[in-house]
Amino acid sequence: MKQRGTRPLPKHTKRPSENAFQTAKPAQTKSQTKEQTMQNYLTPNFSFAPVVPDRALGSRVWDTEGREYIDLAGGIAVNALGHCHPALIAALNEQAHKLWHISNIYTTEPAQNLARRLVEHTFADKVFFCNSGAEANEAALKLARKHARDRFGEGKHQIVACTNAFHGRTLFTVSVGGQPKYSRDFAPLPAGIAHVPFNDPAALAEAVSGHTCAVIIEPVQGESGVLPATPEFLRAARELCDRFDAALIFDEVQTGMGRTGELFAYQHTGIAPDILTSAKALGSGFPLAAMLTTDRLAPAFAPGSHGTTFGGNPLACAVGCAAFDLINREDTRANTRRQGAALTAALEKLGRDTGIFQSVRGQGLLIGCVLAEPYAGKAASFTAAALKHGVMVLVAGANVIRLAPSLLLTDDDLSAALPRLEAAAREWLRTQ
Ligand SMILES: *Cc1c(COP(=O)(O)O)cnc(C)c1O
Repeated sequence: MKQRGTRPLPKHTKRPSENAFQTAKPAQTKSQTKEQTMQNYLTPNFSFAPVVPDRALGSRVWDTEGREYIDLAGGIAVNALGHCHPALIAALNEQAHKLWHISNIYTTEPAQNLARRLVEHTFADKVFFCNSGAEANEAALKLARKHARDRFGEGKHQIVACTNAFHGRTLFTVSVGGQPKYSRDFAPLPAGIAHVPFNDPAALAEAVSGHTCAVIIEPVQGESGVLPATPEFLRAARELCDRFDAALIFDEVQTGMGRTGELFAYQHTGIAPDILTSAKALGSGFPLAAMLTTDRLAPAFAPGSHGTTFGGNPLACAVGCAAFDLINREDTRANTRRQGAALTAALEKLGRDTGIFQSVRGQGLLIGCVLAEPYAGKAASFTAAALKHGVMVLVAGANVIRLAPSLLLTDDDLSAALPRLEAAAREWLRTQ
């Protein structure tokens, strides 16, 4: 099949029946708003934006009305190589003609090829593939519990996590995550989980004991505000885990695969975990996740102890290999650092010029803009204003605007996005 290369895709001409939110039945009446129509068939746990993305290329997205947006969100820290990268399309197409799915009683070349890349470039010896960040963390926590039980018996099951952490939405991961608003309505919750304040080595030392099987940390807390862990906190976690035979788990679902300017964020510090989870950018848009671990812990996942139907499927792993090879390049790392610094400087200037931000923080191309005091709690309303002006951004909690654009962000993308962001900020400030 012919590739489109990097030329813009032709504008779609849609028949009404192709609209994703319509059916053959005349479900839409004139009195329904677009938003109501969009929520017709889906559960209401997402509150959708009032535009419908239709196609995308690089850092540009077009909606069904043909309006252009610059994607500084990277989907949601997922599209590390932008949208529709030709090398990923080629890998997906090639694999689509060979093998889509096969039982996990077989291994495949794409899965072995991607696992080899991950092992060769990290602390890890073994890889477990799955489909989402939550599943990778679920696997990490189950591995840590089982390893501790196999070696030390039932009493060693406690998991120590951080307040405001985010580890996914399964019942176990939402309980380990440190945001009760995401877990309390689903009680009773799994037991044996303690939380300590992030970046508080003394509190961590107090919580970790001989009963601890794992400490789980995000090297940069993503969802709750783009807060980097201090090297002292990570070092304390490593030492405590060594002293008490507990597994140190780094949740790099958001920070991993080049986002911070290294392949994984732990590589900035040299403090290695026993288990690392990766998802979001690993498939760069195709659902794919991995749990990495060492030869010391891996044997606890004996045959039959854990599993997945779709994990490691050939389509996902073929895309993952192509994404890995593009992300793990010196020029990609250099672009991430350069554009990260440029974007941070521009956002700091916007903050100074308009008073909208009190500070800008983060690492590489994972950037958080903390709203100034008068605008605290209003991050979501700013993202709506940015979208109106043609820029996609994210929130990280109620007070922080988060940017996680493509690692291949160009000077053109940046110089087109900045005036739109400034216009959005000025208009939004007038309405506050
Ligand atoms: C997004 C995220 C998850 C959850 O990943 P899903 O693919 O949505 O399950 C877990 N941990 C961190 C740090 C994340 O950013």
